[in-house]
Amino acid sequence: MSEFSLIERFFVDAGAKRADVALGIGDDAAVISPPTGTELVTATDTMVAGVHFFDDVPVDSLGHKALAVNLSDLAAMGATPAWALLALTLPGGQETWLSEFVRGFGELARRYQVALVGGDTTRGPLTITVQVIGYLPAGKALTRHGAQPGDLIFVTGTLGDAAAALSLLKQNQAKPVAEVEYLINRLQQPEPRVKEGLLLSGMATSCIDISDGLIADLGHVLQASGVGARLQRARIPRSAEFVTAISQALIPEDVWDQVLTGGDDYELCFTLPAAQRNQLEALPCRVTEIGVITAESGIELIDENGHSLPPPEGGYDHFR
Ligand code: ADP
Ligand code: MG
Repeated sequence: MSEFSLIERFFVDAGAKRADVALGIGDDAAVISPPTGTELVTATDTMVAGVHFFDDVPVDSLGHKALAVNLSDLAAMGATPAWALLALTLPGGQETWLSEFVRGFGELARRYQVALVGGDTTRGPLTITVQVIGYLPAGKALTRHGAQPGDLIFVTGTLGDAAAALSLLKQNQAKPVAEVEYLINRLQQPEPRVKEGLLLSGMATSCIDISDGLIADLGHVLQASGVGARLQRARIPRSAEFVTAISQALIPEDVWDQVLTGGDDYELCFTLPAAQRNQLEALPCRVTEIGVITAESGIELIDENGHSLPPPEGGYDHFR
């Protein structure tokens, strides 16, 4: 198949149809018309074989995740996702691979009304880059820099599931047990918190998505906001499946604390003035209060007995 027939066959109909795409795939660039009064919000993320995923990962999950991690960035800004570009570098002309990939990508794209408006297809070591574009009312972006001393700190969903899944996969513990399947699905097919991000805009004082672990990502918020945090370790939410996997020794006990440092969860961490706590009932997911913003810089971790602990070193850094 030629490059052009690949594009025609796999990409032209992959995403959602949107009336605001004046010109989609097929020209030198796409033309889109954002709603009036909005600002565009854009993000990009690359996944490299051997760095971000194993060779045996289901290919439709790769398509899902490549888009999901980008939608998660838009969610953290409180933006509505709308358009995406997909740059693929492939080792060979793999039609089966492409149809699986596009199935995962397209299913998620259509679910969030995201049109695939362009991209690039080249040959080389497997690398997947997605760029997403969304919009929000002008001036309403949720950022990392608005946290104030006294604000409460929350996370959506549960943390550590992706770290637990990684541990299971590394020791070949991918048994067909419901808990194991749940955890691996959380790693391979994360659900971006788009609805939650939209509801948080105009409510939260700061927001970030947790891609590199709670300590590292909350650290970015604290630095950008010029504040610190006191975190209650016992409150960090773990899924029932995570707890079971530890208690049944499917994963080592030291994974327990990876709720603090494990990456790839794609939950949102946000801050909110205490008086607005009751507004969180509008969110369609579990939300947990885990601590408070302080005027002193740094993260203070409080254990089950009220003692202060040094926070763990956190976060993956590609260049460290
Ligand atoms: P150009 O050479 O002008 O950069 P290309 O030949 O690379 O254009 O691409 C032709 C059209 O196909 C463009 O609209 C481009 O955005 C689209 N396209 C190429 N690869 C992809 C892809 N992987 N996903 C979506 N659209 C793609
Ligand atoms: Mg061109």
